[in-house]
Amino acid sequence: MALYGSHYGRAYRGVSLALIGMAVLAGCAGPVGIGPLPGSTVYRSSERVLHRFQPGETPAMLAAKYLGDAGLAWMIEDANPKAAFTPQQLVVVPLTIANRAGIGENGYQSVPILCYHRFAKTCDSSLCMPADIFERQLRYLKTNGYRVIGADALLDFLQYRRAIPKKAVMITMDDGYRSTFDVAYPLLKKYGFTATLFIYTDYVGVSRQAITWDQLRELKREGFTIGSHSIAHSDLSKPKNGEDRHAYMIRLQREIIHSKQIIDKALNQDTIAFAYPFGRRNPAVVSLSRQAGYQMGMTVDRGSNPFFADPFTVRRDQILKRDMGLFSARLKTFTKF
Ligand SMILES: [Zn+2]
Repeated sequence: MALYGSHYGRAYRGVSLALIGMAVLAGCAGPVGIGPLPGSTVYRSSERVLHRFQPGETPAMLAAKYLGDAGLAWMIEDANPKAAFTPQQLVVVPLTIANRAGIGENGYQSVPILCYHRFAKTCDSSLCMPADIFERQLRYLKTNGYRVIGADALLDFLQYRRAIPKKAVMITMDDGYRSTFDVAYPLLKKYGFTATLFIYTDYVGVSRQAITWDQLRELKREGFTIGSHSIAHSDLSKPKNGEDRHAYMIRLQREIIHSKQIIDKALNQDTIAFAYPFGRRNPAVVSLSRQAGYQMGMTVDRGSNPFFADPFTVRRDQILKRDMGLFSARLKTFTKF
């Protein structure tokens, strides 16, 4: 998280330093004027660069050149929605963070979050997603210009810290089944996507159906985010039968706080997101999640997330059906006023 965030910050610092330098050279106190740069096909102002696309170039190369981070290629693609990025074409490279909240003239951006559990070639329950259908969904996201973001980018968006791609979507997988590694991961990799996994620690490595800590470490290295889904996956919203208030509070602390400590240690990270088991919570559960040091709490309440959504009531859509029409209807990235 910190790495991506600091790249982003560095990119803009780099750009603004360059612009200050240009202003000094030009000897003007106002905004930097627009004009051709010597020996280059590039024009630039304080807000944007006009670039003539060269053979062999990609938006990622331009992002690295002008923004200091190839991962910001989406900013260039979003700014040139109709561009094919062919040689000699003029493209705009925005140099400033525009519209962090994604508010438009007639509505605002919202982030849909898809929630999966198990994957298999053939499935026996609605919590299992067949591999071929999952691949069709990923292909749909790719061909329709959606970009999969991680938990850190979502948090930045909810905290009004940074803009994210217009068609940002998040993929989450709950419970820590081995099939997320064996089946889903190779498909995600094929399409250049990552996912955020929510694991309950008692289940990690317990059987051939469960993901292992080593596999989680590998996913992390590949850019996946690992969040907590408690220790034992019990309903945290109410005491169990025969459980008194004291025992209930001890259980909440263990499931919420201790699970974070276990994951932090095993994966050498600061776990930022907690997914309430079954999506169930009450004010005590939410308050303990904050105290534990999480920065987001994920539900399975249906809907998309605007920047002003409560980070501890993040909405997610469980993808239980195989119908592509229903799937595409979940991908609501803009809400009209
Ligand atoms: Zn679960």
